[in-house]
Amino acid sequence: MKYRVQIIALLSIFNIGLVSGQSSLANPESIVPYNGNYLVSNIGQKLDAELGGHLYVILKESDCGIIEESHYSYNTTNLFHYGFIDSFLGGMYDGGYTYENLLNQGSFGLGAPDKLDGEVTILDGIAYQTRVSGNTSIPENSEKTPYAFVTNFSKDSEFILEEVNSKELLEKKLDERLLNINGMYAIKIEGVFKKMKTRAFPPVMTKPYPELGSMFDKQVFFNYRNIEGTLVGFRLPQFIKGVNIPGYHFHFISKDKSKGGHLIEVEIGDVKIEIDMIDSYSVKVPDQDEFKKFDFNKDRSPDVRKAESGKNK
Ligand SMILES: [Zn+2]
Repeated sequence: MKYRVQIIALLSIFNIGLVSGQSSLANPESIVPYNGNYLVSNIGQKLDAELGGHLYVILKESDCGIIEESHYSYNTTNLFHYGFIDSFLGGMYDGGYTYENLLNQGSFGLGAPDKLDGEVTILDGIAYQTRVSGNTSIPENSEKTPYAFVTNFSKDSEFILEEVNSKELLEKKLDERLLNINGMYAIKIEGVFKKMKTRAFPPVMTKPYPELGSMFDKQVFFNYRNIEGTLVGFRLPQFIKGVNIPGYHFHFISKDKSKGGHLIEVEIGDVKIEIDMIDSYSVKVPDQDEFKKFDFNKDRSPDVRKAESGKNK
């Protein structure tokens, strides 16, 4: 079977128009849009980057004509966010937005529980809270989060990654694919993880709450081996500073939904990675009195890095 591949890029600034070519790949699904080998080897990395995520049409053709037509498009994807990373780091851990409202905005995302009590991972429309005990449970819809962001994940491209022995290398491999340094990407990684280290924060008890910068020695870490599950994550650009964490940020939820946490370190065996390009970002501004007085002048970049990496230095 031969497949004729037409790549239609609706990208007027590059004026690419229509590019087409032939492929005898056995499986049309392997001619993946955006980052597939076919695109990379046949029309070049640069064009691939410029085409990234726009409209592709793959036509499966026989002597009788077109027998199958697959469309891959750049779905419009909004990232909805409640709260701000800087006010969260500054101690605003009281929930202000219900999970019910949050899940109406998206089914895939990350967050923090009320009073910092662990970590929140949102997958397939369900929020999971992993506490310092290691227990993972589903908060009530009426419970509130102080800080969370969600999207409706809709895959724009996918690829397989094997044998990556560190988080640093995983990020490097992703960087090789996600070429727009100012792009916003949702990233779903599913499979078996040889090693996984996650963390959760303990709850805060009395006000005034300590700033997160003074709580890094209270993080609790979890180490897992050969664990199956999903990393829910994002790569966000520098311009998002103050609102969210620039760079990569992943949380884990195990397949049996009993384990999770914020990703600190990982070694992967064989995983499938799906990418959804995000093209808009909306922020729901908290209406808590505390927020109305919060001073955003302080540069919290060092604490942002510590919070993401889990390293108190
Ligand atoms: Zn996190």
